[in-house]
Amino acid sequence: MNRVVIVTGGSRGIGAATSKLLASKGYLACVNYRSDSNSAISLVNEIIALGGQAFPFQADVSKEREVVALFDETERQFGQVTHLVNNAGCLFKQSSFIDIDVERFNQVMQSNVTSCFLCSREFLRRNQTYGSIVNVSSAASRTGSPFEYIDYAASKGAMDTLTKGLSLEVAEKGIRVNSVRPGFIHTEMHADGGEPNRVERLAPQIPLQRGGTPEEVANTITWLLSDDASYVTGSFIDVAGGK
Ligand code: NAP
Repeated sequence: MNRVVIVTGGSRGIGAATSKLLASKGYLACVNYRSDSNSAISLVNEIIALGGQAFPFQADVSKEREVVALFDETERQFGQVTHLVNNAGCLFKQSSFIDIDVERFNQVMQSNVTSCFLCSREFLRRNQTYGSIVNVSSAASRTGSPFEYIDYAASKGAMDTLTKGLSLEVAEKGIRVNSVRPGFIHTEMHADGGEPNRVERLAPQIPLQRGGTPEEVANTITWLLSDDASYVTGSFIDVAGGK
């Protein structure tokens, strides 16, 4: 049976590292992205050059119609989707709570939580027999991210609750739902928060004394997604250097 995976937000950072690793292990991968088609296309070319199978697909996964199109096209190219990595996410400039406007709050919730809800629901509407889901949450769901992005942290908290509830609802069907909670990882996301060198600044506070790499998070996602983690569901793995 083919293992067919959709990685949302697969064009860069943790999603790109995960798409690459999964493809190297034989998964047929749909690399979803929202806007950066150049990065998604060059990643897919790299995967194919290494002998893997993948295709890029543009969809804003916070929009229901685009999520349906994402699954339709993946099924058309590779067959039934058996695995899902809900990785797409965003944050905005570091800010105190009282300066967060409602448009930003809603946008963060839509990109981080609605996307996870829509993709997981679409996955389960089409497949209730085999596979697993990994949600990419954040250590922020534990810390709350004061003075930076409480909106982002709250969205990851909601994602954790969705992971727990859904894992219990589908467990008897043999579908597993788990979560990875990265800490400070070297990606371009921190520049979106207004501080490209945030990981370097905070490294001395991390017990392992350094930020993590996208590949280190991808390793954990890939393990949880796979049958190697066959008795693991409703679990949260912190990939945060001990923080
Ligand atoms: P990143 O480098 O900013 O990449 C984010 C990816 O998500 C991009 O491919 C982006 O696509 C895509 N994306 C965002 N909104 C989307 C939407 N509505 N629909 C489809 N794609 C969307 O982020 P990252 O650092 O790799 O983070 C990946 C995940 O890990 C996120 O959920 C993030 O919250 C989580 N995380 C990251 C860290 C960290 O330190 N980096 C820590 C904890 C958790 P386009 O570029 O095409 O728009």
